[in-house]
Order: sequence, then C-alpha cells, then structure tokens
Amino acid sequence: MDAFFLSHEVSVRLGIFFGIFATMAGWEFLAPRRALQQRRPVRWANNLALTFLNSILVRAILPVAAIGVAVFAAERGMGVFNFVHVPYPWAMVLSVLALDVAIYLQHLMFHAVPLFWRLHRVHHADLDFDVTTGARFHPVEIVLSMLIKFAVILVLGPPALAVLLFEILLNATSMFNHGNVRLPAGIDRLLRLIVVTPDMHRVHHSVDPRETNTNFGFNVPWWDRLFGTYRAQPQAGHAAMTIGVEQFRTPRELWLDRMLLQPFRADTSGYTIGRQHESAQ
Ligand SMILES: [Zn+2]
Ligand SMILES: [Zn+2]
Repeated sequence: MDAFFLSHEVSVRLGIFFGIFATMAGWEFLAPRRALQQRRPVRWANNLALTFLNSILVRAILPVAAIGVAVFAAERGMGVFNFVHVPYPWAMVLSVLALDVAIYLQHLMFHAVPLFWRLHRVHHADLDFDVTTGARFHPVEIVLSMLIKFAVILVLGPPALAVLLFEILLNATSMFNHGNVRLPAGIDRLLRLIVVTPDMHRVHHSVDPRETNTNFGFNVPWWDRLFGTYRAQPQAGHAAMTIGVEQFRTPRELWLDRMLLQPFRADTSGYTIGRQHESAQ
C-alpha cells in the first residue's frame, strides 16, 4: 500500500483537494454561516490564482517533496523513529501528532516574530473567511514552512506514509476549518473535541488582535487547550465579527499583485504577540 501511495502522491493529493474543495463550496452555497462582505468572483479568482502560483513555485524551487525527505531520512537511518524501534502503527500516530504540534508552534512563531508576521498577515488580510482563504498564503511563507517541515522530518524520521497522511489531513482540515459553513451548535461542540471547526478557526481571523492571537491549531484543537491559546467564540458573535487585519481593508488589497507585495509594506498593525506586550506595558 505504501508503494501505491508513494507513486501516486500527486494524483491522490489533487483528487482529495478537488473533492473537498467542491464539497465545501457546495456546503457554503447551501448553508452559509455569514453573508460575504466582498464580491465573490474577485476574491475567489485572486485567492485561487495565488494558490495555483504557490503550487507551481513550490515544485520549481524545492527539488523534493516532504515525503521525499522522509524516504531520504529512512534510507540513511536519520531521525528518532529510524533508530528507536516503535511498532509501525504507533510510529504513524506519534508522527502525525508530532508534525501537528510542530505546525502549531510554527503558526505561533509566524504571529510572534514581526518579520514572519509580515508574510503570514497575507493569510489574515482576506476580508472574508471561506474555503479559498484556507489556501491563501504568501509564496515565501509556503516555502519557509516547507523548509521547517523538512527539518522536523529529518529530526523525527517519520514513516513516509505518515508524512503523506499528515499533508493530506492538513490540506483537508484547512479547507474544512476555513469554510463559511453553518454547523449546528451541538455538533460543533462535539466535533471541536477532536478537530478544529470553522467556528473555532474563524475566531483566529478576527480583526481584534486579542482574538487573532488565539486558536493557532489546524488539525487537532488540543494544542490550543494545552498551551492556553484557546478561545471558544468571538466577542462580537460570528455574524457580526469583523474579519481581516486593520491595515489592509480596501477591496483593492484582495488582488494578487497587492497580496504579493503586502509583506513589504510598513508594519503599523501592532498585531504580533510581541507588539501586544509592548503596547500593554
Ligand atoms: Zn494565523
Ligand atoms: Zn486561517
């Protein structure tokens, strides 16, 4: 089975991507959580153009995929799981969890370090919150987080299949938890015990920095609960809350050229965790 997934990595991932994207888009159409504030064709065209550009750039710049790094580590006996013997199912589960906590910490770092926040705020500058927001990241952030993931894989030595599973999971949950979809409160409460739901992640896209700097998790909600960064709901409520960052609020900022240039514009936001401490003193 490993061999099948390894040799069909790209088609497996693309198939899952389009399947979940279509499901979420349909769900957003049938049961939206909030009325969109911006014109959908402009936002979608530009968010999807950025996603497309990123997928081409990553393949052009990085010679290997994360799964290739895992195979490389296994062949050379590098990384914890390649020299400490752990039963395969356990190595799979522990690897996925370790990769997830690494992504959580990386997300925290992208908010805490002003230079990284300049890149990551492109994700937050979307003025609406829907399935296309889930893939809207600056290309430099994408490449940087790939390199961080490579380093984590070299230290961890996870099974290659765990890396593939993690990347598919992350892709799927990111589209799910950015969905502008309505979920009954009871189901949201239950789901939130095991996965980050749209209502949980929407809090993170609030314009209020006290809410922006909460709910950093992408897959499982446990790290936020464990490290004290969990916030159940936005203060203004989901329908009335303001999405985005204070700095980029005009529709023109939703265009691809602006998204690409946003990291180089002055940082007057006071959004990063460090800045919050400064202004609190
Ligand atoms: Zn963030
Ligand atoms: Zn997000």
